[in-house]
Amino acid sequence: MAGKKTVKKENVAAVEPVVKKEEEKIVNTAEKASAASVAPAETKKVEAMKAVKAVKAVKAEERPKKAASESTKKKENKPKKAAPKPVKKEEPVKAEPKKEPVLPEPRRSVAFIGSECYPFVKTGGLGDVMYALPKALIPQNCDVRVIIPRYKCIPQKYQEMMEYKGAFEMDLCADGRSYYVGIMEMVMDGVVYDFIDNDEFFSWGNPYTDLVTDIPKFCYFSKAALAALNYLDWIPDIVHCHDWQAALVPIFLRTQFGGTPVGGARSVITIHNLRFQGIFNIPTLKYWTNFPDFVFDYGAMKMGVEDANMLKGGLAYADMITTVSNTYAYEIQTDFFGENLDAHLRYHSGKLRGIVNGIDIDIWNSATDKFIKANYSTKEGKKIENKLALQEMLGLEQDPNKMVLGLISRLTNQKGLDLVNAIFPALIDGNTQVVILGTGDPQYEDAFRYYESVNKGTVCSYISYNETLAHSIYAGADALLVPSLFEPCGLTQLIAMRYGTVPIVRETGGLKDTVQPYNEFTNEGNGFTFDRYEPDLLLDAINRAKTLYFTDPDRWNDMIMRNLAKDVSWENSAKQYRNVYLELRP
Ligand code: ADP
Repeated sequence: MAGKKTVKKENVAAVEPVVKKEEEKIVNTAEKASAASVAPAETKKVEAMKAVKAVKAVKAEERPKKAASESTKKKENKPKKAAPKPVKKEEPVKAEPKKEPVLPEPRRSVAFIGSECYPFVKTGGLGDVMYALPKALIPQNCDVRVIIPRYKCIPQKYQEMMEYKGAFEMDLCADGRSYYVGIMEMVMDGVVYDFIDNDEFFSWGNPYTDLVTDIPKFCYFSKAALAALNYLDWIPDIVHCHDWQAALVPIFLRTQFGGTPVGGARSVITIHNLRFQGIFNIPTLKYWTNFPDFVFDYGAMKMGVEDANMLKGGLAYADMITTVSNTYAYEIQTDFFGENLDAHLRYHSGKLRGIVNGIDIDIWNSATDKFIKANYSTKEGKKIENKLALQEMLGLEQDPNKMVLGLISRLTNQKGLDLVNAIFPALIDGNTQVVILGTGDPQYEDAFRYYESVNKGTVCSYISYNETLAHSIYAGADALLVPSLFEPCGLTQLIAMRYGTVPIVRETGGLKDTVQPYNEFTNEGNGFTFDRYEPDLLLDAINRAKTLYFTDPDRWNDMIMRNLAKDVSWENSAKQYRNVYLELRP
């Protein structure tokens, strides 16, 4: 059984590049690294190749059949002998003029600055947002440029699509050391992407390594992004920066770039996760930024006795702060969620807004998703095909009646995994299967590996980063667990709903704002929720979900249909971001 399962897992890894090549969609360095780390041995490779061939063979078999059936249909529909019809002089049909979408006025230009962006490089939700929000801003009459580092790990396919736009030397440090800044550019879906090129900072495998490396890297990047805008002579109305890696942008804008063209732009900073702040000692940050001393005051970057906090400084200098849900905007002003910045955020609360994330509904679309077994929209039944495919792929017992609980997450304590750990044995009841996809802290990785080893055929812990498998889980699972300790917005519950998978979430941050709890009296709601961070409450929520699933399939299906129909797109949120831009630049 164990052997069988290993082969199946490797099939996933082996088939994946083929699918990727076909679809030219999903790219991720972490995934690549993990794929490399599970590289199959020679014999297993043969097995995997067999699987690929089998898939191809099935596809080849299907094609002629389809073509044949279509041609028969055509033959059947053909009238045996068409009777001559009286010729009628028809009025020439006037071609309807193509309606151009009406864009809201006025047009605003925005430069997005951040450390990752799908499909070039993604480690979490930030990468999703940096890709999807600019796209969603185009129908809102925004001219958007996205600026990210040109990491070596960006796949070759994209590296080849980039065009050299120019290069210059830029002063950076307190001793006047200057650095090369290259600009590579590409356009995709109406969005211009500028990649800041510098081998010294971006030649590492992953976007993030350790603070000693990352602090200078992102000091350089924040300044280089603004310098590139001046160099390109593209002066935006708004500079929109994301998380601590780009948090120095508003400070550079008001200090060293004050008298330059880009200095006229207004700035927005979005907090995707307050936990990460970019804290280091003051002398080091003074050296790398060459900021004037007043930037290192308590009102801006200073933290504690001798530290400087990049995010804190950015929050002070930005014209507007947004975060990714209303509830999180409130929570971060409290002691528990504030990560030592709650007082600072309360002080700046006048310019703090919460705007919930959406998801890219083209990428996450159960009706067209190329990575899943059977596409579906509102048709019942198709989800079961995906469930069976998922069970087979992961070596779980193939049984449509088992309830499959999924969990797709970074494995860190933020994600509520202590709760999952505490109740895991109680989940296994003979009727439930659990699928975990994630990487992160070894303590969680090991715990989930253990649960798999003692529950073969019932539990699968896929300790890796794998976009393709993520799609299969969203489509094949019945419910998705998101019991986070805190969750700024959370995308997995939104994606789950888009695939008709019922989210079971803790009422915090964006989870609270996006999942309406099931109401058994009115048969309304999108998922099951619990409030306090306690294992029993998570178990209770899961049991409520199980009760509905096993005892009232009609109502369970109603919830699937409601979730499939729910609007989780970016449209609404993009309108709110536009309003923020207009507030700053009417
Ligand atoms: P965070 O940004 O805190 O990690 P989010 O819920 O905002 O969490 O976004 C997580 C994103 O990363 C989702 O698109 C999810 O599908 C994806 N993801 C997380 N872990 C994995 C994994 N191991 N394999 C594939 N995708 C993953």
